Amino acid sequence: MALMTGEEYIESLRRLKTRVYMFGEQVENWVDHPIIRPSINSVAMTYDLAQDPEYADLMTAKSSLTGKTINRFTHLHQSTDDLVRKVKMQRLLGQKTGACFQRCVGMDAFNAVFSTTYELDEAKGTKYHENFVKFLEMIQDEDLVVDGAMTDPKGDRGKAPHAQPDKDLFLRIVERLPDGIVVRGAKAHQTGAVNSHWHLIMPTIAMREADADYAVSFACPSDAEGLFMVYGRQSCDTRKLEDPCSVDVGNSRFGGQEALVVFDDVFIPNEYVFMAGEYEFAGMMVERFAGYHRQSYGGCKVGVGDVVIGAAALAAEYNGAEKASHIKDKLIEMTHLNETLFCCGIACSAEGHPTKAGNYQIDLLLANVCKQNVTRFPYEIVRLAEDIAGGLMVTMPSQKDFESELPAGRGGESVGEICRKYFATREDMDVEDRQKVLRLLENLCLGTAAVGYRTESMHGAGSPQAQRIMISRQGNIQGKKDLARAIAGIENR
Ligand code: SF4
Ligand code: FE
Repeated sequence: MALMTGEEYIESLRRLKTRVYMFGEQVENWVDHPIIRPSINSVAMTYDLAQDPEYADLMTAKSSLTGKTINRFTHLHQSTDDLVRKVKMQRLLGQKTGACFQRCVGMDAFNAVFSTTYELDEAKGTKYHENFVKFLEMIQDEDLVVDGAMTDPKGDRGKAPHAQPDKDLFLRIVERLPDGIVVRGAKAHQTGAVNSHWHLIMPTIAMREADADYAVSFACPSDAEGLFMVYGRQSCDTRKLEDPCSVDVGNSRFGGQEALVVFDDVFIPNEYVFMAGEYEFAGMMVERFAGYHRQSYGGCKVGVGDVVIGAAALAAEYNGAEKASHIKDKLIEMTHLNETLFCCGIACSAEGHPTKAGNYQIDLLLANVCKQNVTRFPYEIVRLAEDIAGGLMVTMPSQKDFESELPAGRGGESVGEICRKYFATREDMDVEDRQKVLRLLENLCLGTAAVGYRTESMHGAGSPQAQRIMISRQGNIQGKKDLARAIAGIENR
Protein backbone atom coordinates (compact mmCIF):
# COMPACT_ATOMS: atom_id res chain seq x y z
CA MET A 1 0.00 0.00 0.00
CA ALA A 2 1.21 3.51 -0.84
CA LEU A 3 1.68 6.23 1.75
CA MET A 4 -1.66 7.46 3.09
CA THR A 5 -2.81 11.07 2.81
CA GLY A 6 -4.00 12.91 5.90
CA GLU A 7 -7.59 12.50 4.77
CA GLU A 8 -7.13 8.75 4.22
CA TYR A 9 -5.64 8.48 7.69
CA ILE A 10 -8.66 10.22 9.21
CA GLU A 11 -11.01 7.93 7.27
CA SER A 12 -9.04 4.88 8.44
CA LEU A 13 -9.75 5.87 12.05
CA ARG A 14 -13.50 5.73 11.39
CA ARG A 15 -13.18 2.01 10.67
CA LEU A 16 -11.85 1.32 14.19
CA LYS A 17 -14.18 0.41 17.02
CA THR A 18 -12.05 2.24 19.59
CA ARG A 19 -13.74 2.65 22.99
CA VAL A 20 -13.17 6.17 24.40
CA TYR A 21 -14.61 7.87 27.52
CA MET A 22 -14.60 11.60 28.21
CA PHE A 23 -16.50 13.76 30.73
CA GLY A 24 -18.13 10.63 32.13
CA GLU A 25 -19.58 9.44 28.84
CA GLN A 26 -18.58 7.09 26.05
CA VAL A 27 -17.74 9.12 22.93
CA GLU A 28 -19.24 7.43 19.89
CA ASN A 29 -18.00 9.65 17.07
CA TRP A 30 -14.63 10.54 18.55
CA VAL A 31 -13.11 11.32 15.14
CA ASP A 32 -15.30 14.43 14.77
CA HIS A 33 -15.41 15.39 18.43
CA PRO A 34 -14.37 19.10 18.71
CA ILE A 35 -11.98 18.40 21.61
CA ILE A 36 -10.33 15.37 19.95
CA ARG A 37 -10.30 16.43 16.30
CA PRO A 38 -7.45 18.99 16.52
CA SER A 39 -5.15 16.24 17.82
CA ILE A 40 -6.16 14.03 14.88
CA ASN A 41 -5.37 16.93 12.53
CA SER A 42 -1.86 17.13 13.99
CA VAL A 43 -1.23 13.44 13.22
CA ALA A 44 -2.77 13.92 9.76
CA MET A 45 -0.03 16.51 9.13
CA THR A 46 2.58 13.72 9.43
CA TYR A 47 0.83 12.14 6.41
CA ASP A 48 0.24 15.31 4.38
CA LEU A 49 3.83 16.55 4.64
CA ALA A 50 5.05 13.10 3.49
CA GLN A 51 3.10 13.66 0.25
CA ASP A 52 4.85 16.97 -0.39
CA PRO A 53 7.96 16.61 -2.63
CA GLU A 54 9.52 19.58 -0.83
CA TYR A 55 9.77 17.54 2.36
CA ALA A 56 10.39 14.07 0.89
CA ASP A 57 13.96 13.88 2.27
CA LEU A 58 12.80 14.52 5.81
CA MET A 59 9.39 12.87 5.80
CA THR A 60 10.08 9.62 3.96
CA ALA A 61 12.77 6.94 3.98
CA LYS A 62 13.62 3.65 2.29
CA SER A 63 12.57 0.75 4.48
CA SER A 64 15.46 -1.40 5.69
CA LEU A 65 12.98 -4.31 5.85
CA THR A 66 11.23 -4.11 2.46
CA GLY A 67 13.14 -1.55 0.37
CA LYS A 68 9.90 0.38 -0.15
CA THR A 69 9.42 4.11 0.43
CA ILE A 70 7.81 4.57 3.84
CA ASN A 71 6.87 7.41 6.16
CA ARG A 72 9.89 8.23 8.36
CA PHE A 73 7.64 7.84 11.40
CA THR A 74 7.70 4.06 10.76
CA HIS A 75 11.42 3.86 9.92
CA LEU A 76 14.28 1.99 11.63
CA HIS A 77 17.17 4.50 11.63
CA GLN A 78 20.00 3.20 9.44
CA SER A 79 22.63 5.89 10.03
CA THR A 80 23.46 9.00 12.02
CA ASP A 81 22.10 10.89 9.01
CA ASP A 82 18.73 9.20 9.58
CA LEU A 83 18.85 10.24 13.25
CA VAL A 84 19.57 13.86 12.27
CA ARG A 85 16.73 13.84 9.72
CA LYS A 86 14.37 12.51 12.36
CA VAL A 87 15.06 15.55 14.60
CA LYS A 88 14.69 17.95 11.66
CA MET A 89 11.39 16.28 10.69
CA GLN A 90 10.13 16.79 14.25
CA ARG A 91 11.12 20.45 14.24
CA LEU A 92 9.26 20.89 10.95
CA LEU A 93 6.11 19.25 12.35
CA GLY A 94 6.28 21.41 15.50
CA GLN A 95 6.49 24.50 13.29
CA LYS A 96 3.52 23.42 11.16
CA THR A 97 1.20 22.41 14.03
CA GLY A 98 2.28 24.45 17.09
CA ALA A 99 1.36 21.32 19.03
CA CYS A 100 2.37 17.75 19.82
CA PHE A 101 1.86 15.63 16.68
CA GLN A 102 1.98 12.38 18.64
CA ARG A 103 3.38 9.97 16.08
CA CYS A 104 6.94 9.98 17.49
CA VAL A 105 6.27 7.67 20.42
CA GLY A 106 5.58 4.80 18.03
CA MET A 107 8.72 5.53 15.99
CA ASP A 108 10.84 5.63 19.14
CA ALA A 109 9.27 2.39 20.38
CA PHE A 110 9.92 0.61 17.02
CA ASN A 111 13.62 1.39 17.23
CA ALA A 112 13.94 0.38 20.89
CA VAL A 113 11.96 -2.87 20.57
CA PHE A 114 13.76 -3.84 17.34
CA SER A 115 17.23 -3.70 18.89
CA THR A 116 16.24 -5.08 22.32
CA THR A 117 14.40 -8.14 20.95
CA TYR A 118 17.46 -8.92 18.81
CA GLU A 119 19.72 -9.08 21.85
CA LEU A 120 17.05 -10.83 23.92
CA ASP A 121 16.71 -13.61 21.32
CA GLU A 122 20.49 -13.91 21.10
CA ALA A 123 20.68 -14.49 24.86
CA LYS A 124 17.57 -16.62 25.34
CA GLY A 125 16.92 -18.38 22.01
CA THR A 126 13.43 -16.84 21.78
CA LYS A 127 11.69 -15.68 18.57
CA TYR A 128 10.59 -12.19 19.61
CA HIS A 129 12.67 -10.31 17.03
CA GLU A 130 11.12 -12.28 14.18
CA ASN A 131 7.65 -11.48 15.58
CA PHE A 132 8.50 -7.82 15.82
CA VAL A 133 9.94 -7.56 12.31
CA LYS A 134 6.74 -9.08 10.86
CA PHE A 135 4.63 -6.64 12.88
CA LEU A 136 6.70 -3.63 11.78
CA GLU A 137 6.58 -4.67 8.10
CA MET A 138 2.79 -4.59 8.34
CA ILE A 139 2.86 -1.14 10.02
CA GLN A 140 5.22 0.23 7.36
CA ASP A 141 3.22 -1.25 4.46
CA GLU A 142 -0.09 0.03 5.76
CA ASP A 143 1.41 3.34 6.97
CA LEU A 144 -0.23 3.12 10.39
CA VAL A 145 0.06 5.13 13.62
CA VAL A 146 1.26 3.27 16.70
CA ASP A 147 1.12 4.49 20.30
CA GLY A 148 4.45 3.62 21.91
CA ALA A 149 3.33 2.96 25.49
CA MET A 150 5.71 2.81 28.41
CA THR A 151 4.42 4.63 31.51
CA ASP A 152 2.53 2.54 34.08
CA PRO A 153 0.43 4.26 36.77
CA LYS A 154 3.08 2.98 39.28
CA GLY A 155 1.00 3.25 42.50
CA ASP A 156 3.21 3.58 45.59
CA ARG A 157 6.55 4.81 44.20
CA GLY A 158 8.38 3.20 47.13
CA LYS A 159 7.31 -0.33 46.10
CA ALA A 160 8.33 -2.65 43.25
CA PRO A 161 5.61 -3.79 40.80
CA HIS A 162 5.01 -7.16 42.52
CA ALA A 163 4.87 -5.49 45.99
CA GLN A 164 2.04 -3.08 45.15
CA PRO A 165 -1.13 -3.66 47.22
CA ASP A 166 -3.10 -3.46 43.94
CA LYS A 167 -1.23 -5.74 41.53
CA ASP A 168 -2.71 -3.99 38.47
CA LEU A 169 -0.83 -0.73 39.04
CA PHE A 170 1.86 -2.05 36.73
CA LEU A 171 0.73 -3.78 33.55
CA ARG A 172 1.31 -7.53 33.80
CA ILE A 173 0.71 -10.98 32.38
CA VAL A 174 -2.21 -12.59 34.27
CA GLU A 175 -2.45 -15.77 32.22
CA ARG A 176 -0.18 -17.71 29.86
CA LEU A 177 -2.04 -19.76 27.23
CA PRO A 178 -0.59 -22.01 24.49
CA ASP A 179 -1.43 -19.45 21.79
CA GLY A 180 -0.79 -16.20 23.68
CA ILE A 181 -0.91 -14.21 26.91
CA VAL A 182 -3.63 -12.31 28.78
CA VAL A 183 -2.58 -8.89 30.10
CA ARG A 184 -4.10 -6.60 32.72
CA GLY A 185 -3.21 -3.08 33.86
CA ALA A 186 -2.94 0.35 32.30
CA LYS A 187 -0.61 2.81 30.65
CA ALA A 188 -1.02 6.42 31.76
CA HIS A 189 -0.44 9.76 29.94
CA GLN A 190 -0.45 8.02 26.56
CA THR A 191 0.29 10.57 23.86
CA GLY A 192 -1.83 10.07 20.74
CA ALA A 193 -3.32 6.83 22.08
CA VAL A 194 -6.87 7.42 20.81
CA ASN A 195 -5.58 8.46 17.37
CA SER A 196 -3.45 5.32 16.93
CA HIS A 197 -4.30 2.16 14.99
CA TRP A 198 -2.12 0.01 17.24
CA HIS A 199 -0.35 0.17 20.61
CA LEU A 200 3.17 -1.06 21.22
CA ILE A 201 3.62 -1.78 24.91
CA MET A 202 6.92 -1.77 26.78
CA PRO A 203 7.79 -2.19 30.48
CA THR A 204 8.19 1.04 32.43
CA ILE A 205 11.27 0.33 34.61
CA ALA A 206 14.18 -2.09 34.96
CA MET A 207 12.93 -5.20 36.80
CA ARG A 208 14.06 -8.09 39.02
CA GLU A 209 13.01 -11.74 39.00
CA ALA A 210 10.01 -11.17 41.31
CA ASP A 211 8.62 -8.77 38.69
CA ALA A 212 8.94 -11.20 35.76
CA ASP A 213 5.20 -11.06 34.97
CA TYR A 214 5.55 -7.30 34.56
CA ALA A 215 8.42 -7.59 32.07
CA VAL A 216 6.12 -7.64 29.06
CA SER A 217 6.17 -6.11 25.59
CA PHE A 218 3.55 -6.66 22.89
CA ALA A 219 1.48 -5.04 20.15
CA CYS A 220 -2.27 -4.78 20.20
CA PRO A 221 -4.89 -3.04 17.99
CA SER A 222 -6.67 0.01 19.45
CA ASP A 223 -10.04 -1.69 19.31
CA ALA A 224 -8.98 -5.01 20.87
CA GLU A 225 -11.54 -6.69 23.14
CA GLY A 226 -11.02 -5.44 26.71
CA LEU A 227 -9.05 -2.32 25.75
CA PHE A 228 -10.50 1.14 26.41
CA MET A 229 -9.29 4.68 27.02
CA VAL A 230 -10.19 7.60 29.26
CA TYR A 231 -9.35 10.92 27.59
CA GLY A 232 -7.12 13.34 29.51
CA ARG A 233 -8.45 16.86 29.85
CA GLN A 234 -6.35 19.92 29.15
CA SER A 235 -6.43 23.48 30.42
CA CYS A 236 -9.10 25.51 28.54
CA ASP A 237 -10.22 22.42 26.54
CA THR A 238 -13.95 23.26 26.73
CA ARG A 239 -13.40 26.44 24.73
CA LYS A 240 -13.40 24.05 21.77
CA LEU A 241 -16.90 22.93 22.79
CA GLU A 242 -18.21 26.52 22.91
CA ASP A 243 -17.07 27.18 19.36
CA PRO A 244 -14.20 25.20 17.86
CA CYS A 245 -13.40 27.99 15.38
CA SER A 246 -13.45 30.92 17.83
CA VAL A 247 -10.36 33.13 18.09
CA ASP A 248 -10.53 32.29 21.81
CA VAL A 249 -9.33 28.71 21.08
CA GLY A 250 -5.93 30.10 20.05
CA ASN A 251 -5.07 27.22 17.70
CA SER A 252 -8.32 25.87 16.34
CA ARG A 253 -6.74 23.47 13.83
CA PHE A 254 -4.15 21.55 15.83
CA GLY A 255 -3.62 20.10 19.28
CA GLY A 256 -2.15 17.23 21.24
CA GLN A 257 -3.75 14.42 23.18
CA GLU A 258 -3.13 12.12 26.13
CA ALA A 259 -5.23 9.28 27.54
CA LEU A 260 -5.28 6.55 30.14
CA VAL A 261 -5.20 3.24 28.24
CA VAL A 262 -6.74 0.34 30.16
CA PHE A 263 -6.05 -3.33 29.43
CA ASP A 264 -8.89 -5.17 31.08
CA ASP A 265 -7.73 -8.76 30.48
CA VAL A 266 -6.73 -8.39 26.85
CA PHE A 267 -5.64 -11.50 24.93
CA ILE A 268 -2.43 -11.05 22.93
CA PRO A 269 -1.63 -13.78 20.37
CA ASN A 270 1.96 -15.08 20.49
CA GLU A 271 2.87 -13.47 17.16
CA TYR A 272 2.46 -10.00 18.74
CA VAL A 273 4.43 -10.77 21.91
CA PHE A 274 7.97 -9.29 22.08
CA MET A 275 8.88 -9.98 25.74
CA ALA A 276 7.08 -12.14 28.28
CA GLY A 277 8.97 -12.56 31.52
CA GLU A 278 12.59 -11.89 30.47
CA TYR A 279 12.99 -9.28 33.20
CA GLU A 280 16.75 -8.89 32.56
CA PHE A 281 15.91 -7.09 29.30
CA ALA A 282 13.24 -4.71 30.66
CA GLY A 283 15.87 -2.11 31.60
CA MET A 284 17.48 -2.22 28.15
CA MET A 285 14.15 -1.56 26.43
CA VAL A 286 13.30 1.29 28.82
CA GLU A 287 16.70 2.95 28.46
CA ARG A 288 16.66 2.76 24.67
CA PHE A 289 13.10 4.04 24.26
CA ALA A 290 13.73 6.85 26.74
CA GLY A 291 16.96 7.75 24.93
CA TYR A 292 15.17 8.05 21.58
CA HIS A 293 12.32 10.04 23.05
CA ARG A 294 14.74 12.40 24.84
CA GLN A 295 16.36 13.00 21.43
CA SER A 296 12.88 13.65 19.96
CA TYR A 297 12.34 16.60 22.28
CA GLY A 298 15.36 18.32 20.71
CA GLY A 299 13.19 18.50 17.57
CA CYS A 300 9.50 18.82 18.43
CA LYS A 301 9.83 21.32 21.28
CA VAL A 302 12.17 23.43 19.13
CA GLY A 303 9.57 23.58 16.35
CA VAL A 304 6.86 24.66 18.77
CA GLY A 305 9.40 27.08 20.30
CA ASP A 306 9.79 28.66 16.85
CA VAL A 307 6.04 29.36 16.87
CA VAL A 308 6.21 30.83 20.42
CA ILE A 309 9.08 33.13 19.42
CA GLY A 310 7.29 34.18 16.22
CA ALA A 311 4.08 34.92 18.11
CA ALA A 312 5.95 36.98 20.74
CA ALA A 313 7.67 38.97 17.98
CA LEU A 314 4.29 39.63 16.31
CA ALA A 315 2.73 40.69 19.62
CA ALA A 316 5.55 43.22 20.08
CA GLU A 317 5.10 44.48 16.52
CA TYR A 318 1.33 44.88 16.95
CA ASN A 319 1.98 46.88 20.13
CA GLY A 320 4.41 49.16 18.32
CA ALA A 321 7.19 47.99 20.64
CA GLU A 322 9.31 45.92 18.27
CA LYS A 323 12.12 48.47 18.09
CA ALA A 324 12.64 48.61 21.87
CA SER A 325 16.10 47.25 22.68
CA HIS A 326 14.85 45.09 25.58
CA ILE A 327 12.30 43.41 23.26
CA LYS A 328 15.00 42.65 20.70
CA ASP A 329 17.20 41.27 23.47
CA LYS A 330 14.43 39.02 24.80
CA LEU A 331 13.84 37.61 21.32
CA ILE A 332 17.59 36.95 21.04
CA GLU A 333 17.56 35.13 24.38
CA MET A 334 14.53 33.02 23.35
CA THR A 335 16.23 32.12 20.07
CA HIS A 336 19.46 31.25 21.86
CA LEU A 337 17.64 28.92 24.26
CA ASN A 338 15.60 27.31 21.50
CA GLU A 339 18.60 26.71 19.24
CA THR A 340 20.56 25.28 22.19
CA LEU A 341 17.89 22.58 22.44
CA PHE A 342 18.21 21.94 18.71
CA CYS A 343 22.01 21.66 19.09
CA CYS A 344 21.44 18.94 21.71
CA GLY A 345 19.00 17.06 19.46
CA ILE A 346 21.43 17.18 16.53
CA ALA A 347 24.48 16.35 18.66
CA CYS A 348 23.04 13.17 20.21
CA SER A 349 22.02 12.10 16.68
CA ALA A 350 25.35 12.86 15.02
CA GLU A 351 27.11 10.91 17.79
CA GLY A 352 24.84 7.88 17.33
CA HIS A 353 26.08 4.34 16.75
CA PRO A 354 24.74 1.07 15.33
CA THR A 355 23.12 -1.48 17.64
CA LYS A 356 23.78 -5.23 17.32
CA ALA A 357 20.51 -5.49 15.37
CA GLY A 358 21.78 -2.92 12.84
CA ASN A 359 19.56 0.11 13.49
CA TYR A 360 21.10 3.27 14.92
CA GLN A 361 20.92 4.38 18.52
CA ILE A 362 21.51 7.96 19.72
CA ASP A 363 24.31 8.91 22.12
CA LEU A 364 22.67 8.30 25.48
CA LEU A 365 24.57 10.90 27.50
CA LEU A 366 23.87 13.67 25.00
CA ALA A 367 20.19 12.67 24.62
CA ASN A 368 19.77 12.88 28.38
CA VAL A 369 21.48 16.28 28.45
CA CYS A 370 19.09 17.31 25.66
CA LYS A 371 16.00 16.34 27.65
CA GLN A 372 17.38 17.86 30.88
CA ASN A 373 17.65 21.21 29.07
CA VAL A 374 14.11 20.72 27.72
CA THR A 375 12.86 20.50 31.33
CA ARG A 376 14.09 24.12 31.75
CA PHE A 377 14.40 26.20 28.58
CA PRO A 378 10.78 26.12 27.33
CA TYR A 379 9.76 27.54 30.74
CA GLU A 380 12.17 30.45 30.28
CA ILE A 381 11.05 30.91 26.66
CA VAL A 382 7.42 31.05 27.82
CA ARG A 383 8.32 33.47 30.63
CA LEU A 384 9.89 35.82 28.10
CA ALA A 385 6.95 35.39 25.70
CA GLU A 386 4.51 36.37 28.47
CA ASP A 387 6.74 39.32 29.34
CA ILE A 388 6.65 40.56 25.74
CA ALA A 389 2.94 39.81 25.22
CA GLY A 390 1.74 41.88 28.18
CA GLY A 391 -1.13 41.18 30.55
CA LEU A 392 -3.79 41.39 27.87
CA MET A 393 -2.90 37.80 26.98
CA VAL A 394 -4.95 36.76 30.03
CA THR A 395 -7.38 39.64 30.55
CA MET A 396 -8.80 40.11 27.04
CA PRO A 397 -12.59 39.81 26.68
CA SER A 398 -14.03 36.93 24.71
CA GLN A 399 -14.52 36.77 20.96
CA LYS A 400 -18.29 37.00 21.58
CA ASP A 401 -17.74 40.41 23.25
CA PHE A 402 -15.65 41.60 20.33
CA GLU A 403 -18.51 40.57 18.04
CA SER A 404 -21.35 41.79 20.28
CA GLU A 405 -23.77 44.32 18.84
CA LEU A 406 -25.36 45.03 22.19
CA PRO A 407 -25.51 48.82 22.68
CA ALA A 408 -23.47 49.84 25.73
CA GLY A 409 -21.87 53.26 25.22
CA ARG A 410 -23.47 56.69 25.73
CA GLY A 411 -23.59 57.20 22.00
CA GLY A 412 -25.06 53.74 21.40
CA GLU A 413 -21.67 52.09 20.65
CA SER A 414 -21.90 48.34 20.90
CA VAL A 415 -19.83 46.19 23.29
CA GLY A 416 -17.88 45.02 20.22
CA GLU A 417 -17.12 48.58 19.12
CA ILE A 418 -16.00 49.47 22.64
CA CYS A 419 -13.64 46.44 22.72
CA ARG A 420 -12.21 47.27 19.33
CA LYS A 421 -11.73 50.94 20.35
CA TYR A 422 -9.91 50.24 23.60
CA PHE A 423 -7.76 47.37 22.41
CA ALA A 424 -6.58 49.14 19.27
CA THR A 425 -2.84 49.86 19.03
CA ARG A 426 -1.02 51.15 15.93
CA GLU A 427 -3.24 52.71 13.30
CA ASP A 428 -2.09 50.24 10.66
CA MET A 429 -2.83 47.23 12.87
CA ASP A 430 -6.00 45.18 12.85
CA VAL A 431 -7.35 44.59 16.38
CA GLU A 432 -8.41 41.07 15.38
CA ASP A 433 -4.84 40.17 14.42
CA ARG A 434 -3.71 41.31 17.85
CA GLN A 435 -6.44 39.22 19.45
CA LYS A 436 -5.42 36.17 17.40
CA VAL A 437 -1.75 36.33 18.26
CA LEU A 438 -2.41 36.88 21.98
CA ARG A 439 -4.82 33.92 22.05
CA LEU A 440 -2.24 31.80 20.26
CA LEU A 441 0.32 32.74 22.92
CA GLU A 442 -2.19 32.01 25.66
CA ASN A 443 -2.79 28.59 24.08
CA LEU A 444 0.95 27.84 23.91
CA CYS A 445 1.84 29.21 27.36
CA LEU A 446 -1.22 28.26 29.44
CA GLY A 447 -3.84 26.52 27.31
CA THR A 448 -4.19 23.16 25.59
CA ALA A 449 -0.84 23.39 23.77
CA ALA A 450 0.93 24.15 27.06
CA VAL A 451 0.40 20.47 27.94
CA GLY A 452 2.88 19.64 25.19
CA TYR A 453 5.11 22.67 25.47
CA ARG A 454 5.42 23.05 29.25
CA THR A 455 4.45 20.18 31.52
CA GLU A 456 5.34 17.57 28.93
CA SER A 457 8.73 19.26 28.56
CA MET A 458 9.13 18.58 32.27
CA HIS A 459 7.77 15.03 32.53
CA GLY A 460 7.44 13.58 29.03
CA ALA A 461 10.18 11.05 28.14
CA GLY A 462 10.95 10.91 31.87
CA SER A 463 11.03 13.50 34.66
CA PRO A 464 14.24 15.50 35.29
CA GLN A 465 15.58 13.11 37.93
CA ALA A 466 15.49 10.21 35.46
CA GLN A 467 17.86 12.14 33.20
CA ARG A 468 20.14 13.04 36.09
CA ILE A 469 20.50 9.35 36.97
CA MET A 470 21.46 8.59 33.35
CA ILE A 471 23.84 11.56 33.24
CA SER A 472 25.55 10.30 36.40
CA ARG A 473 25.86 6.80 34.90
CA GLN A 474 27.12 7.99 31.52
CA GLY A 475 29.19 10.94 32.70
CA ASN A 476 32.43 8.95 33.24
CA ILE A 477 33.65 10.88 36.27
CA GLN A 478 36.37 8.22 36.74
CA GLY A 479 37.79 8.97 33.30
CA LYS A 480 37.69 12.67 34.06
CA LYS A 481 39.62 12.08 37.33
CA ASP A 482 42.28 10.27 35.30
CA LEU A 483 42.57 13.31 33.02
CA ALA A 484 43.03 15.62 35.99
CA ARG A 485 45.58 13.28 37.58
CA ALA A 486 47.60 13.11 34.37
CA ILE A 487 47.73 16.90 34.00
CA ALA A 488 48.55 17.47 37.68
CA GLY A 489 51.17 14.72 37.74
CA ILE A 490 49.36 12.67 40.41
CA GLU A 491 49.99 8.95 40.50
CA ASN A 492 46.86 6.75 40.40
CA ARG A 493 47.18 4.90 43.73
FE1 SF4 B 1 6.43 13.76 19.32
FE2 SF4 B 1 7.15 15.70 20.89
FE3 SF4 B 1 4.65 14.82 20.98
FE4 SF4 B 1 6.63 13.30 21.96
S1 SF4 B 1 5.98 15.29 22.71
S2 SF4 B 1 5.01 12.63 20.59
S3 SF4 B 1 8.31 13.82 20.55
S4 SF4 B 1 5.63 15.82 19.27
FE1 FE C 1 6.12 13.09 24.61
